Amino acid sequence: MKLSLGTPITKLRMVGPAYAARLKKLEIETIRDLLYHKPHRYIDYSLITPIMRAQSGETVTVQGAVVESKNVYTKTGKVIQKVKLQDRSGQLEATWFNQPFIPKTIKVGESLNLSGEIEATGLRKQLVSPEYEIVKEEKYTIHTGRLVPVYPETEGLSSKWLRSRIAPLIKIILPDLEEWLPDSIREKERLLHIEEALANLHFPESPTSAEKAKKRLAFDEMFLLQVRTLLRKKAWQKRDVAHKITVEPRKLNDFQKNLPFKLTDAQKRVTEELLEDLSKDRPMNRLLLGDVGCGKTVVAAIGMYASHTKSFPSVLMAPTEILAHQHEKTITGLLKPFNVKIGLCTASRKVNLSDYDLIIGTHALLYKTIEPQDFGLAVIDEQQRFGVEQRGRLIKKGKTPHILTMTATPIPRTVALTLYGDLDLSIIDEMPPGRMKVKTWIVPPKKREGAYQWIRERIKNGEQAFIVCPLIETSEHESMLQVKAATEESIRLSKEIFPDLSLGLLHGRMKAKEKEEAIQKFRDHKTEILVATPVVEVGIDIPGATIMMIEGAERFGLAQLHQLRGRVGRGDKQSFCLLFTSLPKAEGFSRLKALEMEKSGNELAELDLKLRGPGDIYGTRQHGFADLKFASWKDAALIAATRRHAHSIVEKDPKLKKHQKIKAKLGAIEKPIEPN
Ligand code: ADP
Ligand code: MG
Repeated sequence: MKLSLGTPITKLRMVGPAYAARLKKLEIETIRDLLYHKPHRYIDYSLITPIMRAQSGETVTVQGAVVESKNVYTKTGKVIQKVKLQDRSGQLEATWFNQPFIPKTIKVGESLNLSGEIEATGLRKQLVSPEYEIVKEEKYTIHTGRLVPVYPETEGLSSKWLRSRIAPLIKIILPDLEEWLPDSIREKERLLHIEEALANLHFPESPTSAEKAKKRLAFDEMFLLQVRTLLRKKAWQKRDVAHKITVEPRKLNDFQKNLPFKLTDAQKRVTEELLEDLSKDRPMNRLLLGDVGCGKTVVAAIGMYASHTKSFPSVLMAPTEILAHQHEKTITGLLKPFNVKIGLCTASRKVNLSDYDLIIGTHALLYKTIEPQDFGLAVIDEQQRFGVEQRGRLIKKGKTPHILTMTATPIPRTVALTLYGDLDLSIIDEMPPGRMKVKTWIVPPKKREGAYQWIRERIKNGEQAFIVCPLIETSEHESMLQVKAATEESIRLSKEIFPDLSLGLLHGRMKAKEKEEAIQKFRDHKTEILVATPVVEVGIDIPGATIMMIEGAERFGLAQLHQLRGRVGRGDKQSFCLLFTSLPKAEGFSRLKALEMEKSGNELAELDLKLRGPGDIYGTRQHGFADLKFASWKDAALIAATRRHAHSIVEKDPKLKKHQKIKAKLGAIEKPIEPN
């Protein structure tokens, strides 16, 4: 059978159902997955030495002929294996434990390599449980005598087994493993040929060649990501026509006069960017980035108001029902004098959409209730990705709404430019005046009791507190485990710590109505403490709450903590953030310390990237981006270089007509948006 990258792994010899199941645990299902399975390190067995010269403590490979190979049974009923190896300089004994098949594999007279660390008792040198490999005529070895890859393993699947499967694949030339990256780029960036890169990834001649291999594969990964985003941007600009929305200065003035505050300069600037986009028939696709509490909602309201002045309805989608309710209140307040009919549309509350000028609901409602309308503007709050398919659901008769996405998720600039490369960015980098800084303290275990006491006193004086349970797993959807933890903690707190106070509970598995009730009770000050899973992170606005207490703070990213903290400090009272941690002072403490300083969400995101690495900080996976395997968000040079190359290709050849291989590599390019 002809093998190709897409061939299922089960077609390989030696891979039966049991191994296939284990491989699946490592997310290996095709030959491609196996070839791209990245070693997490290499053991250096490249020092090949005569037996005589091998030094105690040295990691070496010795080569020779097997002169003895046997099982030895000990008095305690154990079986050990002994092999004697001879080369021109002398003899060496190797011992293994409980591997009775070894004498069947290693036979007297065979040519054998042994790799491992030499142990010596007196003059007697030996190897204990070394790596072994029978050397065939071609002398090519994969387990000994070289840098040997060690892979992420799973039970019943050793690196040795993986090496034995990968090595033959490297030798046969896979027809679809031809070079796809243009030579010009490869030369400019001094990148290995793809075949060489994969060969060196697994069986490098030196640490440098392993590095070069990873560099090539990292480039591929980031480059394809860049090309994909830029193509998406092009496609969006090309295909669709939107309503031109221009708002008369007089009407804009009316709106501003009605506001209870003056817009900040940053708000004014992004409002101009927004209105400029709306006035064109090219559909806007803009991302509004700004720290929690910087005032993004009012900017969105201006956009929707503008759309209303031209009689186009708009839609605002929130990630949760709680937020949808909150937005409905806020927006209704802001638009009161202008006779805009605002409809709230949730799973439990379906309305006839055509009765309204402005519809507020959750994002999920796209699939349930919202039919395509002749929308002027669609605002998506706290939802980083609004996919092509979702956009399609808003389009009617070929007109596309302008789209404004808003987020407070702090993200380093380099990352934003790649992940959101298909969007235009507007940034609010200024807070409304008069905001008090939230006082932030790290609370070690021995101060826990004192902290509870302090919270009680403040609450007795009329304040309110959030208590956020630790992040148990990093997953977008709240797990049952998380719900259980919060429920148990709220019981414990109300029994043991705050029996004299009234506590509420908020988690994602509650019914929408229960959630809204819990929030409303807290807002109305009927409950004094709201115990919550980390879901309160997004958007809720309760001015009376002044204390944010976070359990297991070390488990959160700085940017996430910053967002949680942003839930307080919204009113005019001094607010506090208490970071409970069980970490000893040295570890992680300094990371949390950064929160005590006055830094913006974006600065914290940059810092987290430096200190923790990009792992789960931005939740790239949560936002629909695959994890990076070879490339790193820390590698600013790589991000810049790949972006430059991707840009020059997409600009000159937006359909990738002259870059068929890149096109194939990208897989099916997103389908064009069709009206429903
Ligand atoms: P976010 O950007 O996190 O969505 P919001 O839009 O919810 O922030 O605004 C947070 C709070 O700040 C709201 O109570 C809002 O009324 C207030 N606010 C917004 N802009 C200003 C401003 N220019 N001056 C004073 N307060 C403002
Ligand atoms: Mg908001």
